[in-house]
Amino acid sequence: MKDSDTLPRFVARKRKVLVVDDSDVNRRLIGIIVSREYEVIFAKNGQEALDILQDSPGAVSLILLDLIMPVMDGYAFMERFLGHSGQYGKAPVIVLTANKEAEVESLRRGAVDFIPKPYDFPEVILARIRRSIALEEDTTLIRKNEREPLTMLYSRNFFMEYVRQRDLDDQNTPMDAAVLTLNRFNMIQDIYGPGFVRHLLKAISDEIRRLLPQDHCLASRGEYGSFLLYHPHRSDYDIICNEIARKVRELTGNTRFNIHVGVYENVSKDMDPEQRFEKAALLCYDNKTSYKTGCYFYNMEAHEKEMYNERLILMMDDALKDRQFRVFYQPKYEIQGDSPVLHSAEALVRWFHPELGMISPAAFIPLFEKNGLVLKLDRYVWTEAAKQIKKWYDTFSRKIPVSVNVSRVDIYAPSLEKELLALLSANGLTSDDLLLEITESAYTTDSTQIIETATRLRSLGFRIEMDDFGTGYSSLNMLTSLPIDALKLDMSFIRKMMNSSRDLKLVKLILDIAKFLRIPAIAEGVEEEKQCQALRKMGCELIQGYYFSKPVPPEEFEALIMKETGIPA
Ligand code: C2E
Ligand code: CA
Ligand code: CA
Repeated sequence: MKDSDTLPRFVARKRKVLVVDDSDVNRRLIGIIVSREYEVIFAKNGQEALDILQDSPGAVSLILLDLIMPVMDGYAFMERFLGHSGQYGKAPVIVLTANKEAEVESLRRGAVDFIPKPYDFPEVILARIRRSIALEEDTTLIRKNEREPLTMLYSRNFFMEYVRQRDLDDQNTPMDAAVLTLNRFNMIQDIYGPGFVRHLLKAISDEIRRLLPQDHCLASRGEYGSFLLYHPHRSDYDIICNEIARKVRELTGNTRFNIHVGVYENVSKDMDPEQRFEKAALLCYDNKTSYKTGCYFYNMEAHEKEMYNERLILMMDDALKDRQFRVFYQPKYEIQGDSPVLHSAEALVRWFHPELGMISPAAFIPLFEKNGLVLKLDRYVWTEAAKQIKKWYDTFSRKIPVSVNVSRVDIYAPSLEKELLALLSANGLTSDDLLLEITESAYTTDSTQIIETATRLRSLGFRIEMDDFGTGYSSLNMLTSLPIDALKLDMSFIRKMMNSSRDLKLVKLILDIAKFLRIPAIAEGVEEEKQCQALRKMGCELIQGYYFSKPVPPEEFEALIMKETGIPA
């Protein structure tokens, strides 16, 4: 036996065509033509055909039907067959007839085509059969795949295609691309299991259908508990958001799960639909840590901001080379003595752009933190600051310690310690001269890495100030074990403390925590005398803020040093 004899033979399925005709001759004639490409089965009348179809519904790809037959004629057959697809399956019907009027009537009753008798052109007959089968199969495929079976919303590819078609049909109506996400979907899956999640997704899609009429809204299910909506512009997505959140809470019995909706309003129809929904989804992603149900919008304003940000990113390298970034210094004063004494400074970067003017770090630092550019910028600032400390030392014989901001991203740089040590040695400084500020939220979100890095830095002698304290929600328990040398109270506390006794008590409490940890507290954002006095009374050691000075260029800072040391300006 040859190998090939034992192997299964995979032959593409030959489609079946059912020929229904009472005339032996006609059956034979059409059978010869059709069997060139198809498997042919025969029935002598409508009833026989129905019996065959009922035996294996869906097995027949096409029916060639004579109209005039005994027992059950073609019209009666069509009525039964086309009206009961559940019982007989679906297949296109082509009518065989010599009568013009019958052609029209049979099309009206649901036949897809007709073949005139006599059968003079076998090629034409086969072409018609082929086309009808292909059309039917395409339609079935579309019907099967158009909707996602769980939610019966459009499946993604169809959805995107229908979005494109909607735009072609109507260029003028402003449309919104919205992405609705079930926040913390993974957690819901873990807690409730896949069966419940399916139930939940179905319930959400039912709500979507209820809240957004299908004739206006195209909807599809996205990944990870998200839904895509394409809808004429509206401004009340918060209602939809809240209704769906209510449903989710009702079903989960948990009030902590929430819904985020990202809306790209009045989409640009030049943009590919996939991209529009990416923009909307990004809004949800950017806000995924929010614990509140809410809508986020991308609109012209956001678009312009994005363009502006893009520009900043593109210009950053050249700007560094052109020295458009300048480091300003803001003094910190010690206030517990008889009169305030200049203690140290914080280095704060500014971008002087030839066309855009002075750009605040608040506009570019968070942006550069996202894409890692901040690594380069911070090194530039640290280098400038180290040189500046040396310069002041050379000029005034006095070391002014300067703290620099260390970004969350910097913490992960393997060469961080080496670079900092190199800066010290290049400028003849010690680790007492260059202080490091790390924001509290970095401690709470990347705690393991930060604690490791901070511990190593401290073992090299560096001192670390915890910046923006009070915004990162460290636990008291955590604080006692953290490697830190000073607490910088976030500005928001100082701003509120004179107006509310509760906030004043909170500041007192934070100062007590610092005392308990035996580290100094620095109050930031102090603008008024009375704030300064209150902080002094509560035992705060150091103050930084407009009350003493805004961040100033190094030349102006020198005036502060001279005033302090009694050198006439
Ligand atoms: P930060 O580290 O919390 O810096 C303090 C901010 O408060 C500075 O804003 C400072 O100008 C401002 N400030 C100080 N005193 C007062 C006051 O009395 N009133 C008011 N209203 N504001 C005051 P700035 O310079 O705009 O910097 C914003 C943030 O940008 C900084 O917050 C810091 O997170 C970041 N940043 C600045 N320079 C750098 C840098 O070189 N590297 C990194 N990674 N981040 C930087
Ligand atoms: Ca800082
Ligand atoms: Ca701060």
